[in-house]
Amino acid sequence: MKSLFSLRVPLWTLALWVMTSLLNLTQAQTIIIDPGHGGRDPGAVRPGVMEKQVALATSRYLASELARRGFRVVLTRQTDVFLTLAQRRDLSQRYPGCVFVSLHYNAAVNAEARGVETYYHGAASRALAAHVQGCLARLRGVMNRGVKRRGYAVLAKNTASRAILVEAGFLSNVWERQRCLDPNYQRAVAMAVSDGLEQHLRGSMRASTPLWAQRTAPSPAVLATFRGRIR
Ligand SMILES: [Zn+2]
Repeated sequence: MKSLFSLRVPLWTLALWVMTSLLNLTQAQTIIIDPGHGGRDPGAVRPGVMEKQVALATSRYLASELARRGFRVVLTRQTDVFLTLAQRRDLSQRYPGCVFVSLHYNAAVNAEARGVETYYHGAASRALAAHVQGCLARLRGVMNRGVKRRGYAVLAKNTASRAILVEAGFLSNVWERQRCLDPNYQRAVAMAVSDGLEQHLRGSMRASTPLWAQRTAPSPAVLATFRGRIR
């Protein structure tokens, strides 16, 4: 009897761990998507295009792709409205633990400038920026400008668990401008950003699993082999 009683403590601990794990699995990760500019702020303006429009169109593709993958998606703006940088950034306060992704298109005085780049500010966001940039850089014909640290107003002081800003192409480059306007390219950008987010978030979920749980919980493949042997 004494040994049975002493067994109850670890059983309760295990039950509690299972319940917490199930709760974590059912709570979808919130991703805030921030389409750059809007309203009286058009962002970069070049012949036939305003940055605020392409940023919103791409963000809509990104939102539906992430929702399809089971994420909870929140947009800072869904229409052509003006928001201050603080209003965008402070939306993170309403969703503790959220991930913040600001989406922009680039412009430069040098018309030759091209490629995609991803910005972060806090060290905790660096790995996510690298995953997203890695996926964007794999898109056909895209030049990789790398991951950069910058104290942009939407990134610095953002309370999201991770916050990044994607510059998905140069509107100031004649060739890239045509591509940025193409819905197929916008969809490809949305897929790449989703892949990067998913890769990073799944990876960090594995990393946060306690070591003892990793050792004792067999993978589905291992369970299948075991069942096969006893039959
Ligand atoms: Zn911008």
